[in-house]
Parts: sequence; structure tokens; C-alpha cells
Amino acid sequence: MVDVHGVHKSFGPLEVLRGVDLQVRAGEVTVILGPSGSGKSTLLRTINHLEKVSRGWVSIDGELIGYRRSGNRLHELKEKDVLKQRTNIGFVFQNFNLFPHLTVLENLVEAPVSALRRPRREAEDTARRLLDRVGLTDKADAYPRQLSGGQQQRVAIARALALEPKVLLFDEPTSALDPELVGEVLDVIKDLAGTGTTMIVVTHEIGFAREVADTVVFMDGGVVVEQGPPTAVLDHPRQDRTRAFLSKVL
Ligand code: ATP
Ligand code: MG
Repeated sequence: MVDVHGVHKSFGPLEVLRGVDLQVRAGEVTVILGPSGSGKSTLLRTINHLEKVSRGWVSIDGELIGYRRSGNRLHELKEKDVLKQRTNIGFVFQNFNLFPHLTVLENLVEAPVSALRRPRREAEDTARRLLDRVGLTDKADAYPRQLSGGQQQRVAIARALALEPKVLLFDEPTSALDPELVGEVLDVIKDLAGTGTTMIVVTHEIGFAREVADTVVFMDGGVVVEQGPPTAVLDHPRQDRTRAFLSKVL
């Protein structure tokens, strides 16, 4: 389970996260909605310690991310240990971020071999199985530039899965895609949800949230304004700010 506890984050004088609490149970899908600048990406980035929190903490399955506790104090982990923790936290970005000079298969094999020291053959077998799962069996030897945006994003999802993470974080995984390619990527994420993958998905796709989320979280101004099951938050929002946001996007 992912536990975000009292997280604050400032960039200089700008406080972007102002005390965020969020729990995601194993096997559940949490969708985060909120206006631009509300802190959604920053929250995801604090979960895998791409951003250091200014206050509060994040833990996954009881393990603090980025820090170790000694008595009452938190000490920052060494970069090497942070990288190791990050192998448990898959991250899928808006712009795919595949390695352009590597084939699709190599994109999936790289991290398991270099970060987890998996034998290459084993990593390749896993990679092919994952490409199968995202419907790209025949693209193993292609380069990213030879793929459509939707295909690239499916490769990025497979690459994240190759590390067998405890949780997958998605930051607007479909917002860089042409509309006709959005569905194939959402279908892959839906499929993962059906197999009990723990996920936190930042998206503006309300239909997807309604169908797939166990919990919908609405953020604004660096705080969680409201959260609950999709029907509660999307159909019967209790907060004016949630209503105002939904009236614009629905
Ligand atoms: P969007 O929907 O546009 O992606 P968001 O909810 O993901 O927005 P964030 O990217 O988390 O919002 O940004 C929240 C605020 O923090 C914004 O005002 C942004 O300008 C600011 N911010 C984010 N990263 C940094 C940084 N590295 N340095 C300074 N300010 C930052
Ligand atoms: Mg963002």
C-alpha cells in the first residue's frame, strides 16, 4: 500500500503541495483529477522521490521512500538506495520517454538487466511476454520513432512493468496522443487494473475514471479537496471547487 502522509512541497517561496494525505491499497486504482497547476505531477514525483518533500513522508508497503528513520529523525538515503527503491515504482510519463537509440525490446530489457541484474535471456523472455500483453509482439525490433504515439506509450507501460513494480504511476498518459490513439492506451491500463495492479493515474479522462477507478481524488491548490468512489465524487461532489471543475471538463 502507498501511504502519502502530510506531504508539503515548496519550490522557493511557492508552496505547491500543502499537506497531502493519500492512501492507495494494494490492487486498487486511484485516479487524480484537478486543474492545471494544482500539484498533481508534483505529487506523483514526490512518491518516487524525483522531488524531495519539504515536510511529511511517503511509504510503500511500510518502507519510507527516500529516507530512513533513526529514532525521531529522518536521514536521506544514498542515491544508489533511492534508485533501488525506484525500481518498485513504475512511472509512465505523458511523453513516453523511451530510449530513442534502443529497440523496443532493448527498452524493456535495459533496466531489469542493469538495475536488477537479471540474466539477459530471462529479461528478454519477460519483455516478449509483456509486449504480447500490450499487443506489440511484432514490434520488438522496431525503434521508438517507427511507432505511433499510442504504440510508444504501450511500450512505455510494458517497460514500467518489466521491473515488476509494487505500484505504477501514470502522469497524463494519453494527453500527448491524437484522439484516435487514446483508446488503445486506456484499454491497456484498464486491462492492468483488471489484473490487480496498484496504480495512481493522473488523467483528464473522466470516462476512464468512472469505469476503472476505485477511488477518485480531486486536487486543487496543493491539497486533496475531495476523494471517494467515482460515483460519489463525479456524480455527487460535495465541494464547490469539485463541482466547478467537473462542470468544465464533463
Ligand atoms: P498540469 O495539469 O498542468 O500538469 P499539475 O497539477 O501537474 O498541472 P504541477 O506540475 O505539479 O501541476 O505544478 C504545480 C505548481 O508547481 C505549478 O505552479 C508549477 O509551476 C510549479 N512547479 C512545478 N515544478 C516546479 C519546479 N521544478 N520549480 C518551480 N516550480 C515548479
Ligand atoms: Mg502535471
